[in-house]
Amino acid sequence: MPLRLYNTLTRQKVPFKPLDPLSVRLYACGPTVYDHLHIGNGRMLIVFDVLFRLLRHVYGEAHVKYVRNITDVDDKINARAAERGVDIRVLTDEMTHVFQEDATALGCLPPTAEPRATDHIAEMIALIERLIAKGHAYVAENHVLFDVPSMPAYGKLSKRPLDEMIAGARVEVAPYKRGPMDFVLWKPSIPGEPGWESPWGHGRPGWHIECSAMSWKHLGETFDIHGGGIDLLFPHHENEMAQSCSAFGHDIMAKVWMHNGFLQVEGEKMSKSLGNFVTIRELLTTDKFGGRSWTGEVLRLAILRTHYRQPIDFTVKALEEAEETYEKWFDAISSAAHLLTTLGMDDNAQVPDSVLQPLQDDLNTPAVIAVLHELHAKARANYRAASQLNASLEILGIHIPDKDFLKGYFRAAPWPDDQSDGLNNDVAYLAYMDDIERLRTARNAARAAKNWAEADRIRDELAAMGIAVKDNKDGTTTLERKR
Ligand code: AMP
Ligand code: ZN
Repeated sequence: MPLRLYNTLTRQKVPFKPLDPLSVRLYACGPTVYDHLHIGNGRMLIVFDVLFRLLRHVYGEAHVKYVRNITDVDDKINARAAERGVDIRVLTDEMTHVFQEDATALGCLPPTAEPRATDHIAEMIALIERLIAKGHAYVAENHVLFDVPSMPAYGKLSKRPLDEMIAGARVEVAPYKRGPMDFVLWKPSIPGEPGWESPWGHGRPGWHIECSAMSWKHLGETFDIHGGGIDLLFPHHENEMAQSCSAFGHDIMAKVWMHNGFLQVEGEKMSKSLGNFVTIRELLTTDKFGGRSWTGEVLRLAILRTHYRQPIDFTVKALEEAEETYEKWFDAISSAAHLLTTLGMDDNAQVPDSVLQPLQDDLNTPAVIAVLHELHAKARANYRAASQLNASLEILGIHIPDKDFLKGYFRAAPWPDDQSDGLNNDVAYLAYMDDIERLRTARNAARAAKNWAEADRIRDELAAMGIAVKDNKDGTTTLERKR
């Protein structure tokens, strides 16, 4: 089945045909770096990372470009930098560093390019000059404004009724605007605010022109997919499209527009005033959410349980369930990895079609996860299912530690050399490991109940299977192959 994506522009799910299959181009609106990212931003990072991974799988790693910008000039940044008494670059460098570490912890690949707005002021100025020259923008009181009525297709993306758009635009009523919906491309900076020299005086860019300039520079005048959270549909994406189409004279900026749904926390909109605002960093390193910290893998799996276009309710319960699932899968994969290493076999499992199909159907990750549960159920008796589970988790970006680590993890159930002739298939081996695991659990329970006689009996039973038991000072038990 070919890849199908829901296009917000046409409100339809259609087969995806890249403009150039040798260079598939994706742009997503990245964060404004004035503070640590919240988990809603994390959703956007994860969703477009899954898309990036899938495109790489379908078209080849060398043939996909993913650009995710960093907005590092913005009123919120100015206010925060002033509050802290630092230069905006100091603040945005620090926040960019934290954000990149968070994205890595969430299992996101580095995009092909991560342009910063302030490194593209020249491109923004060039684009604005083009818009003025073509009659799509005008200068008024040191501002440059986009002339919305000059673009008849305006509103095509967000499909908002005109009166709603006018009402939305009225938030910024300014006497120098010719039309109520006209929006700022360039504005003056007062002393103390960051600014750059331009043909219209010392000033700074409007937010929307940043993305038109950065996508142009890194992906060209038109490209395949433009993404971001649904909050950006209007006015940000509508305005980006108006700018790029008007400047370059094309009908489209991107062929497909994709929007992830919003994330809310325990049934409520996330907000600082409600006290339910939680950053990725806090989830990873503090006990603020649910009284404990969570791994990036669990956060990612919890997010992917919901289809990307649906709203997500982010709850402690969902994280607990995701963790339980991750641990089950981890155990199955580590057993299989151990088995393969022991048998000297290569793990060359591919992502099965049963996983690719729902993933290619507009990134239906909940359906993918259902298939992964089926693979896991088979994995007990079939290491190939476990290997396929592993390959499938890789395309979802859910990290399972590498084989060397897994070998160590599974040292508790070593392959019995003296019995290996009789155990030449994986079913028998897994049954053998199950027995050991069952005995280990039973012995721990006996020890907890201070039933020393039973604990000793189980130790002897394990010894007969070639396993030595070592009780550690901290209460844990290590199993080792008897030498
Ligand atoms: P911002 O830094 O607010 O511009 O957001 C960066 C990215 O995260 C954008 O693509 C937003 O659409 C997205 N985003 C922001 N808040 C949320 C949320 N609560 N749920 C999902 N996506 C969000
Ligand atoms: Zn943007």
